[in-house]
Amino acid sequence: MAWARGGAVVMLVLGLFGASCADDAGAVDGARALERVKRQVAFGPRISGTPGNTAAREWIAAEAARLGGRVETQAFIDTIGGKPVPLANVIARFGPTTGRRIALYAHFDTRPWSDMATDPAEKALPVPGANDAGSGVAVLLEVAELMKQRAPKVGVDLVFLDGEDMGRPTEPDEYCRGSRGYALRLPLVGDDARPVAGFLFDMVGDKDLGIWDEGNSATRATNLVDLVHEAARATGARHFHEGIKYTLIDDHVPLLDAGLPAVDIIDFDYPAWHTPRDLPDQVSAESLAEVSRVAAWIVFKSSLAK
Ligand SMILES: [Zn+2]
Repeated sequence: MAWARGGAVVMLVLGLFGASCADDAGAVDGARALERVKRQVAFGPRISGTPGNTAAREWIAAEAARLGGRVETQAFIDTIGGKPVPLANVIARFGPTTGRRIALYAHFDTRPWSDMATDPAEKALPVPGANDAGSGVAVLLEVAELMKQRAPKVGVDLVFLDGEDMGRPTEPDEYCRGSRGYALRLPLVGDDARPVAGFLFDMVGDKDLGIWDEGNSATRATNLVDLVHEAARATGARHFHEGIKYTLIDDHVPLLDAGLPAVDIIDFDYPAWHTPRDLPDQVSAESLAEVSRVAAWIVFKSSLAK
């Protein structure tokens, strides 16, 4: 009966310490995440190099710091479409200062034009950016809320990227400039060593959520795609599906090119994409909560988190 005895001991230990370790760091709050989407939209367009972008970035940095992150702003000048554009990523580090780190990524800038609008009069309007990119930022800050309650065992970098969405459709190299600059500027070794795994959250708040495998991730970061599926199963996330639906240029591509493993978690079936209708009413607290639970599982319970 050694098993039974062992089992009893385990249960006793859980009984003594269950309150602090049974549920990691509390629950995600979809309503709180949705409020953060609305807050970002209220800043106006967050186009790189404009006051709305700066205001949103400073708010993100303040929120991340309030939630216990060690915040660094990574500012640099890039050239996009032949013009100099000031970009600034925000990196908020949580957990141990040394050792293995993982990263969660989201861009916070918004697109200057609504080129997918059907009404020609709307094409020149900036995208309000509730889902693209407010949702990813809200998910990362939701994970920060949980990390404030309990520090992760592994180092976790929340990386808020600028300069994702300024590209002309015919110029793929004009996209994802913030992530490209981030990867270029990461030190090779040291306390802010390169993350061993990265999870990009982009357009994850659609009220009609459906997240499928992204092609570049599936071929270049297969193990991380598998890990996302494991997280979805473990958290009962019903809107994550197996199988490649789209292959996309997103912030994960410059990361992968720089040798930083990264998976793009994205719902690309979004009718309001790059239109003036990308507003908070297209985003739901339930979707934000589902994705936040997946992100939190990766940070607290996955094989990477040990
Ligand atoms: Zn976009």
